[in-house]
Amino acid sequence: MRVVLVPFPLQGHITPMLQLGSMLHSKGFSITIAHTDHNPPNPSNHPNFTFVNLPDQLGRGADIYFQNPLSVIFGINSNCGEPLRNVLSEMIENQERDGILACVIYDPLVYFVDSVVKELQIPSLILRITGSVYLKALRVNIQLHEENPYVIPESMLLEKVSNLEPLRFKDLPSPLHVKVPEVVIQLQRNLIDKGSSLGFVWNSVDDIEGSILSELKQQYNVPFFSIGPFHKLVPPSLSTSLMEEDKSCIEWLDKQSPKSVLYVSFGSLATLESRDLVEVSRGLAQSEQHFLWVIRPGLIKGSKWIEDLPEGFIEEIGQKGLIVKWVPQREVLSHFAIGAFLSQCGWNSVMESLGEGLPMICKPCHADQKVIARYLTHVWKIGILLDDPLDRESIEKSIRKVMIDEEGKDMRENAMNLKQKIDASVNEGGSSYKSLNDLADSLRQMEM
Ligand code: UDP
Repeated sequence: MRVVLVPFPLQGHITPMLQLGSMLHSKGFSITIAHTDHNPPNPSNHPNFTFVNLPDQLGRGADIYFQNPLSVIFGINSNCGEPLRNVLSEMIENQERDGILACVIYDPLVYFVDSVVKELQIPSLILRITGSVYLKALRVNIQLHEENPYVIPESMLLEKVSNLEPLRFKDLPSPLHVKVPEVVIQLQRNLIDKGSSLGFVWNSVDDIEGSILSELKQQYNVPFFSIGPFHKLVPPSLSTSLMEEDKSCIEWLDKQSPKSVLYVSFGSLATLESRDLVEVSRGLAQSEQHFLWVIRPGLIKGSKWIEDLPEGFIEEIGQKGLIVKWVPQREVLSHFAIGAFLSQCGWNSVMESLGEGLPMICKPCHADQKVIARYLTHVWKIGILLDDPLDRESIEKSIRKVMIDEEGKDMRENAMNLKQKIDASVNEGGSSYKSLNDLADSLRQMEM
């Protein structure tokens, strides 16, 4: 039986989709990845999958998303329906030769898939690539915009949102102090819509997000399969990276003491001001802790790479720090030398970090990250939030707290407790392990 997976072409979306493909392949399914021209995954890393291209008419260039994210999202949703319809129709015609088409699983950002599968009467599931806390927040956020389309005063931003505590208005995906264009609200409605899908697959863990997952399951009234963290259920060697990984950092980490290095990364999309780069670098130096820092080309607005670091910084830190462009992050986070993670709090990074029992310093930048950061700091209590504007003193203090200070002991313990829950969930008999088997059983019954 064949499952067709349709990711949205960004790193944080492609990774969980490819990981899901790997899990389902291990359960005996043939996997087809239907991807856009923009940011295609590397087929040679996945010799067992079939790849089909959906021409998106967006033009080439890795940075088109950074220039205008909405035009990429809308462009893909307008232009890829017809190509996907052709691909799926051909599969249906050739089922005897190529295997029965069981299901299409797609990312909520490629919501065009729903009308295609409905028309062709193909069963479908949605892969929720971020935490259930975000979906819950988004639903309430949309409702607030609909009920009260006027902006709230800025003074209310620190107030808690009822039904969403401990989230404050300022943590919402789109806070209500500025008017949000209707087209953005409509996009958000598409993201929360279940369409004709028969259920949701989650990169989440029942033992961590169980209460919100149950609440949402009642509201959506479809089966939920929480089979996270995905990276723990796929071979560690599975590479899903769109950028070249600098593996030299592992040799450097090998030379460090256990839990002595802070890992710093802002993920694949965030951008920082040049002044933020200076504050982070000063905070790192002042903390006197060792660090591995990913500065992705393009991270700093208006600069190519690390030109805006304070003069003499590299010499000053000497052997204490290593700056690289992109790393094999899962390998880094599971390395014995890593003691904590300063992160933008993208959901993949958070799951990868929780899976290693690391406390976090949170510098959320956009989308779901403010919601997730609030949960890390106020619900799971394993993180410290860095408020805007970034300043070197609070960065230094946070680093010392998560890495060495007595004050951070509870956070380090809480993080290890979460890791134990996660390990139990992916081991035989655990909740994610069982959910994956349930998902495979459901797919086997789904043929058209
Ligand atoms: N990542 C990586 N190398 C790096 C930095 C990030 O492989 O140097 C990966 C990371 O492991 C994660 C993904 O990129 O799986 C980023 O996704 P996430 O949801 O954390 O954040 P986003 O990039 O979407 O903001």
